[in-house]
Amino acid sequence: MKRILITGVAGFIGSNLAKKLIDDGNFVVGIDNFYTGKKQNLSSFLNDKNFQFVEHNVIEPYQFDVDEIYNLACPASPPHYQKDPIYTFKTSVFGIINALELAKSTGAKLLQASTSEVYGDAKVYPQDEKYFGNVNPNGIRACYDEGKRAAETLICDYNRLYGINAKIARIFNTYGENMDIKDGRVVSNFIVQALNGCDITIYGDGTQTRSFCYVQDLIEGLVLFMKSDFCGPLNLGNPCEFTINDFAKYIIELTGSSSKCVYLPLPQDDPCKRKPDISLAKEKIGFNPKYSIQDGLLKTVEYFKKLCL
Ligand code: NAD
Ligand code: UDP
Repeated sequence: MKRILITGVAGFIGSNLAKKLIDDGNFVVGIDNFYTGKKQNLSSFLNDKNFQFVEHNVIEPYQFDVDEIYNLACPASPPHYQKDPIYTFKTSVFGIINALELAKSTGAKLLQASTSEVYGDAKVYPQDEKYFGNVNPNGIRACYDEGKRAAETLICDYNRLYGINAKIARIFNTYGENMDIKDGRVVSNFIVQALNGCDITIYGDGTQTRSFCYVQDLIEGLVLFMKSDFCGPLNLGNPCEFTINDFAKYIIELTGSSSKCVYLPLPQDDPCKRKPDISLAKEKIGFNPKYSIQDGLLKTVEYFKKLCL
C-alpha cells in the first residue's frame, strides 16, 4: 500500500484524485486550507480508514512520511487567483519549494499541477511542450502564470541538483464533478446560468477558444504520469476545441435552456486560441482521453442540477 500526499485535496481535481487513489487501495494524506476548496468535496471518503486530512497552508513547510506527492494546492480560476495575487504567487512558489524539500528528504516522487497558462497567449498552435510561451509578466494573470512558471524552474533545478524525481504536468481546461458552483470558470458559469435560465455571460466576442477535458480522463493521465519514469513537462488535456460562442450554444442545447447570450468585456491577456498537442503524453504514458465532450458534460450537468435545486 502506497502512502500518497495530495496538496489541495479539497479542491475540484484534488478531491477526484483522492477518491481514485483510495479506491485503488492507497493511503492518502490530504492537505488543504479551504481557500477555494470545500469540506463537502471530501465527504465520500473523509471517514475512510485510508484517508487522513490535515488543515494546513502549503506556504508553510510540512513533513509527512510518503511515497508520492501530488502538488495541487493553488487557486485555479481567474477570479479566485486574481483576488489576492500575492497569495497566489506565494502559494505556487513557496508551495512547490516545500513539496520539493519533502521529496528531497523522503525520496518521494512528486507531480506538480502546472498549467497551459505557462504558454500564455500562445503564438504556437496547438501548444506542444517545446514552446516557451508568450506570457505578460506584468498583467493580471501573471501571479498565476509566472508563479507556475517559477515552480517549473524550481522543479528542474531540484531534479538537476539533487537527482530527485519531480514531474511537471501541464494541465489544460478540465471540468466535471466537484467544481464549485461559484468558481467563475466558463464551464461552471455557463451550465449554472443555463440551468437557472439566466443570461450566458460571454467575455469578449466569443471567438477565443478552449479545449475541454473531463476530470476522470485527467485523473487517469495524472496517475499514469506518476507511475512512469518520465519527468515532463507533459501536456494533459483533451484537444476537443470550441470557440466560446459555440460552447455557449452547445450548453444551451444540452440543457434545453431558454437562456440568451450577453457579451461582456474581455479580461486582460485572455488567451485567444488554446488546444493541447498531446502526442507526447500518448507516446510516453499511453494517455488517451476516453470521454466524449457530450458524455462528460452530461455528467457535469447532472452534478450541477443537484446543487441548483
Ligand atoms: P481548486 O481551486 O478547485 O483547488 C485548489 C485547492 O487548493 C483548493 O482546495 C484550495 O483550498 C487549495 N489551496 C489553495 N491555496 C492553498 C494553500 N496555500 N495551502 C493549502 N491549500 C491551498 O482548483 P483545481 O481546478 O482543482 O486545480 C487544482 C490544481 O490544478 C491547481 O494547482 C491548478 O493550478 C491546476 N490546474 C487546474 C486546471 C483546471 O482546469 N481545473 C487547469 C490547469 C491547472
Ligand atoms: N469566459 C466567458 N464567460 C464566463 C467565464 C469565462 O466567456 O462566464 C471565457 C474566458 O474569458 C476565457 C474562457 O471563457 O476566454 C475560459 O475561461 P476560464 O475562466 O474557464 O479559464 P481560462 O482558460 O481562461 O483560465
